Amino acid sequence: MAVNVPNATKVYFCSLFNQFKSPCCLCGQSTLTISGFCQGCLNDLPRLSGPLCRCALPLEDNIEPTDADDLAPLCSRCLDRSPAYLGIQAPMLYCQPLSRLVNGWKHHGRLHLQQPLQHLLVSQLCTLPEVDLVVPIPLHWRRQWRRGFNQTALLANALADRAKLPFADVLRRPSAQHHQQGSNANQRRSAMRGSFVSKARLDGLRILLIDDVVTTGSTVGAASQALLESGAHSVSVAALCRVLPPDITGDDSDHC
Ligand SMILES: [Zn+2]
Ligand SMILES: [Zn+2]
Repeated sequence: MAVNVPNATKVYFCSLFNQFKSPCCLCGQSTLTISGFCQGCLNDLPRLSGPLCRCALPLEDNIEPTDADDLAPLCSRCLDRSPAYLGIQAPMLYCQPLSRLVNGWKHHGRLHLQQPLQHLLVSQLCTLPEVDLVVPIPLHWRRQWRRGFNQTALLANALADRAKLPFADVLRRPSAQHHQQGSNANQRRSAMRGSFVSKARLDGLRILLIDDVVTTGSTVGAASQALLESGAHSVSVAALCRVLPPDITGDDSDHC
């Protein structure tokens, strides 16, 4: 039988090319992107937009988005208590379908979601602030042992790698915190007080603190405080996604 050489070559190269295709982690459609999302699902992911406070929540209409010291203005929640960090960048909203992916990775052992979520954090941040060191929010050792990994350290590692910045897992969580879901901002803030310690001096360093999901901001606030108490010059925060409080969404579910 005669072999059609041009077609055989095409089939060979197509099969090679197909090895680089991976299914979109949301719709399962075959995709050629390295992000793990097809373009349609990536475009449809819910994002934060508009003038934002330093805590990454939308500013109220009556607050002017300008400030003399180059920092974003504060929303009414932060005016009561100015955050220890310079600002949070959290480009995505924590709601369906992203919340399903984050929970699947963290709580249900869906480890194939690690790479798409790392890629999402790295690709969706606008610009990184000038920093000297990337530091993840730690888990208490018992929780990390049960889970087998710290998702925040994996996100921070990917970001440090891409930005060619040093990474240090310098914070420690001396006591296990009770599950914080459902607590309000004040309850979470008092529960988090003193919950982080730094294992090293950080004199004069500008830190980029990484979290996966920022809920009320009390965890990153308490961790920033610990970093500053260890001599850090400043702390900026980057996170994969931000929870909108019920008084903004009008709903306390994770559907938006
Ligand atoms: Zn898709
Ligand atoms: Zn705020």
